[in-house]
Amino acid sequence: MTLVYSEIMVRYGELSTKGKNRMRFINKLKRNIQDVLSIYPAVQVTADRDRCHVILNGQDYAPVAESLKQIFGIQAFNPVYRLPKDVTVLENAVQEIMTGLYREGLTFKVAAKRADHSFELDSRELNHTLGDAVFRALPSIQAQMKKPDVTLKVEIRDEAAYISHEEIKGVGGLPVGTSGKGMLMLSGGIDSPVAGYLALKRGVDIEAVHFASPPYTSPGALKKAHDLTRKLTKFGGNIQFIEVPFTEIQEEIKEKAPEAYLMTLTRRFMMRITDRIREERDGLVIVNGESLGQVASQTLESMQAINAVTNTPIIRPVVTMDKLEIIDIAEKIDTFNISIQPFEDCCTIFAPDRPKTNPKIKNAEQYERRMDVEALVERAVAGIMITEITPQAENDDVEEMIEDLL
Ligand code: ATP
Ligand code: MG
Repeated sequence: MTLVYSEIMVRYGELSTKGKNRMRFINKLKRNIQDVLSIYPAVQVTADRDRCHVILNGQDYAPVAESLKQIFGIQAFNPVYRLPKDVTVLENAVQEIMTGLYREGLTFKVAAKRADHSFELDSRELNHTLGDAVFRALPSIQAQMKKPDVTLKVEIRDEAAYISHEEIKGVGGLPVGTSGKGMLMLSGGIDSPVAGYLALKRGVDIEAVHFASPPYTSPGALKKAHDLTRKLTKFGGNIQFIEVPFTEIQEEIKEKAPEAYLMTLTRRFMMRITDRIREERDGLVIVNGESLGQVASQTLESMQAINAVTNTPIIRPVVTMDKLEIIDIAEKIDTFNISIQPFEDCCTIFAPDRPKTNPKIKNAEQYERRMDVEALVERAVAGIMITEITPQAENDDVEEMIEDLL
């Protein structure tokens, strides 16, 4: 007999401390796991108060484990073998498992639990019987009760017997969506996807808002933002991608405002529009990728001038990070190589040579009086396009790349 993992038992993370909200958390996590694992059609996900069960139904274990390692809200998981409740079958199974793991000096113990009290052996007898079976197969192995190298967990339940022996650490964090919704201002750059990832980590369900200014910005820039969003779906499931038509506003600013204020005004419009979309879609916060001092738009004076158009809380997860720290995370979450693709986004194209690093709110307001701000914002919001971005299997990436090449 060759044993194959049949399911994965998922242990919940920090959410176990959340009292009466527990079921809400669990249901959210279950749905996120279902979303992320939707790339494996055979897999089924169920959840109860203590655990979530990922039933493999013949799907290969390794890639599913890789996916689970990235989903926020999972503390740890154990792959398990589901077996018939038959002592001989269980004996053979523990022999096979331990033979596979054996190296000199390896210590083990059996930790059996009998939930089905009609089963012929009780927990103590199971520990002995199965331990003996291991010794018959591996006479020189040592049993050790305290901190053995391998703990064979055996559980006899009503429907079947389960054996597991490895525990894999999850990423922790909170299930995406359990902290409410936020609008992520997603450019095609390095910082905003990292900001999105960090917001997801604390349970914020993000929707990606992306400003595009065709024909100044190319379809490539838009695809880049899509691809970045898709990378972020690995951590908690589907993400709504909201494309905002920004050409008219950028042209208007360029025409009516002095060069030095282009950037400040552009950002103020982005902020207003994002806030309007947030309000319409029941978001609670705005998330962006601003990092203090990185560029002209990110001095404290600039942030203040940009921020002045709204009272909505703004989360800036990377605000105090150095560029290299941000890049480290971007590499870890696999967005870096997409972010550095050379497609100009709307800000680069209209960027002045020397933007003001200490813009004044009063000046910004004065220049804005030359335009019909409200009508511009309304038209942009009326023109948004929403796409749901879903996870994609890694090999699909390759297929798509080949398609692009042909
Ligand atoms: P990033 O690497 O995220 O592009 P950046 O260092 O280039 O950031 P800026 O260009 O000043 O910084 O942008 C600051 C923030 O404004 C971005 O992190 C992002 O949240 C938001 N932003 C900029 N351009 C866009 C855009 N085209 N669509 C949506 N949000 C944007
Ligand atoms: Mg940028």
